[in-house]
Amino acid sequence: MNNYSSVFMTEQDAIENLDHAFKHGFCVSNLTCQKAIEALNKQIPKNPVQSSMQTYLCPICEKEVKPKVNVGEYSIEAEKHCSECGQALKWDDVNP
Ligand SMILES: [Zn+2]
Repeated sequence: MNNYSSVFMTEQDAIENLDHAFKHGFCVSNLTCQKAIEALNKQIPKNPVQSSMQTYLCPICEKEVKPKVNVGEYSIEAEKHCSECGQALKWDDVNP
């Protein structure tokens, strides 16, 4: 087991540790491990999938998610999480 403090352990590190435990049968229960990995994965921002010019979908559940919209001098910020499954979203490659 690694001795990371929570400050230095990223979600990705935690997923790898859980995955290791899972593969070697050290999990409390397999379902617990799977759920934890699933929840951690949702905290790592992922790019939405573009389905048409103005339409973007959650990469996990494929619900439509809203990109940043400029309305005259105002702008409406892009959604930071999918409202359906809670997946964290990043728009770096989508919104310049
Ligand atoms: Zn989703």
